[in-house]
Amino acid sequence: MRKVILAVAVATALGSIAYGQAPGQAGPPVVRQPVPGPGIMELYFIDTEGGQSVLIVSPNNGLLGARETLLIDAGNLTNPPGRDADRIVAAMKDAGVDRIDYMVISHYHGDHVGGAAAIADKVPIRRVYDPGPFADELAGNRAAGFNSYLPVRAKMHVTVPKPGMKIPVAGLDVNIVSSAGEPLCATAKEREQDNTPNNYESIGMTIDFGKFRYLDLTDLTWNQEMQLVCPANLLGTFALYRTTRHGTDWSGAEVLVHTVRPRVAVMNNNPTKGGTPGTFQIVKSSPGLEDFWQLHYSDNVSKDVNSPDNFIANFTKDDTGSFIKVTARPDATFTVKNGRNGFTKEYKAGSSGPATSSR
Ligand SMILES: [Zn+2]
Repeated sequence: MRKVILAVAVATALGSIAYGQAPGQAGPPVVRQPVPGPGIMELYFIDTEGGQSVLIVSPNNGLLGARETLLIDAGNLTNPPGRDADRIVAAMKDAGVDRIDYMVISHYHGDHVGGAAAIADKVPIRRVYDPGPFADELAGNRAAGFNSYLPVRAKMHVTVPKPGMKIPVAGLDVNIVSSAGEPLCATAKEREQDNTPNNYESIGMTIDFGKFRYLDLTDLTWNQEMQLVCPANLLGTFALYRTTRHGTDWSGAEVLVHTVRPRVAVMNNNPTKGGTPGTFQIVKSSPGLEDFWQLHYSDNVSKDVNSPDNFIANFTKDDTGSFIKVTARPDATFTVKNGRNGFTKEYKAGSSGPATSSR
């Protein structure tokens, strides 16, 4: 009798193992009932004090049965260490997500890759897209962020994308339009090329959700931006544009901004980095622009050039890192919220031009 009981116990245990379950949970996995996502896309422009980190939460559930997340860059390595990862986690908590499905490391400067190791320490990250080998810098002391990322990268599933590749976020159409690969079209250079190869090899992308379109070229440089719209506009037009390279004069080429005609721009500046007079002039004069939101008040221009206070998330370096949150719907309507004071503005369906792409 004792032998029989033992045999039953062994069979039960084997059954559990066969189904990949913990001992004691007999039987096959339950059939999953598909649960639709909320049907809205959310974007958090996280304050990394002049670095970049954008958290995008998908409208649909992915293969793990939950909304998927795309993180574009992870902010800074220091000032102080871990601050930016904490702010990313705070945004994830606000969104109700606990995992990063796709992380893009656009390039290897410390204000983008620096926080990658810290965030990898705090939350699971399923897939990473980065530029591959480090492009040796022409100016010194710029490898610290990359070096901090290397041990993390060694353990990751990494893809080095080329222009034309997609990132398969549930319910979104994410297209890589620039990277360390070949440019999509050629044109004469309009400015002297700056000496930061990691910037001009940045991973840039377009993110489409129905008729809603978001353009994020990370820190791509002026001449490379031009190649995306000259002689032909390969990108189309957009509801939302994040000012390339923090709103500095190295990027945000007038021909790019004015060709892609964003309705709303968001700038990831800090009080003294980005937010230059040239950026304000180009963005504010862009045809069809309705509002210019800023992660920080810019000390580089006067108060009347800065946007009204409600469109600015942080005012000093000692701020608590308020984000700007965009909630987008597939009919191209969207809402922008200031994380500092809750000020919210609704943007009705497109008016800045055709929401079609000539891509
Ligand atoms: Zn940067």
